[in-house]
Amino acid sequence: MNTQVVTRFAPSPTGFLHIGGARTALFNWLYARGRGGKFLLRIEDTDRERSTPEATAAILAGMDWLGLDYDGEAVSQFDGADRHREVALQLLEAGKAYKCFATQDEIQEFRDAARAEGRSTLYQSPWRDADPATHPDAPYVVRLKAPRDGETVIRDEVQGDVRIRNDQLDDLVLLRSDGTPVYMLAVVVDDHDMGVTHVIRGDDHLNNAARQMAIIEAMGWPVPTYAHIPLIHGPDGKKLSKRHGALGVEEYRDMGYIAAGMRNYLTRLGWSHGDDEFFTDAQAKEWFDLKGIGKSPARLDFKKLEN
Ligand code: GLU
Repeated sequence: MNTQVVTRFAPSPTGFLHIGGARTALFNWLYARGRGGKFLLRIEDTDRERSTPEATAAILAGMDWLGLDYDGEAVSQFDGADRHREVALQLLEAGKAYKCFATQDEIQEFRDAARAEGRSTLYQSPWRDADPATHPDAPYVVRLKAPRDGETVIRDEVQGDVRIRNDQLDDLVLLRSDGTPVYMLAVVVDDHDMGVTHVIRGDDHLNNAARQMAIIEAMGWPVPTYAHIPLIHGPDGKKLSKRHGALGVEEYRDMGYIAAGMRNYLTRLGWSHGDDEFFTDAQAKEWFDLKGIGKSPARLDFKKLEN
């Protein structure tokens, strides 16, 4: 069995590399580099309207400045669309996904009725168990047959065991009616194909993990180790925004901050190692672990960076 650690940073190229993204990249880099593992970069550019080449360039420049070198080439998620579609069709073939012919109006009617009757408004498609012989010649989406009973347990290295009742998860759309794969499927397929063993990312993706696990399990693939990191808050404890001075990392470079100081600062933002405030790169790589990541949001405090 291949036990080499493989991590990845998977930014959506919709803006500059901000502090939160830079920290996620750094944690993944430290975790892999400290264990003789691989650190991969995947540009999640499936949202064609919001992704720009300028943002990709800014992310690459930010990582370069921070010294976060990755193994191999940066991968474009959009380029893998055929492979993502192939996996959805494989699930369809295996009876683990189905064609759903429901129209938007029908789905809305279902929800309105469920709301009026005080039932869960989670859509339950009548096509889930339909005989293919009854399929109309009409547009359809491909949905996963998500588990209905029991619960999904995300064994998270930071959050502990997170339990989600399966009746709270819907039959996720895998392919849209125009045949394009959805983002959630792309992430799962790419992580599998790239051999990712550890998914370290912001905890805004924790809810996605349960739905992603349903796809992973339907494919019979190993579930990666998850570590969902609390987001960074501003000095006032509120969600980080530009108002707090949260700029792109290259703007800190232009202001004269040095990369090593930035790395040290970002390492300590949400991760602790005893009372140590400063450490060398070698120490950071040796000491960094998932257990040291705090459960509550880290607070940005630039005074510490200026020390
Ligand atoms: N592309 C996502 C983001 O930029 C990250 C997804 C992931 O790490 O699985 O927030």
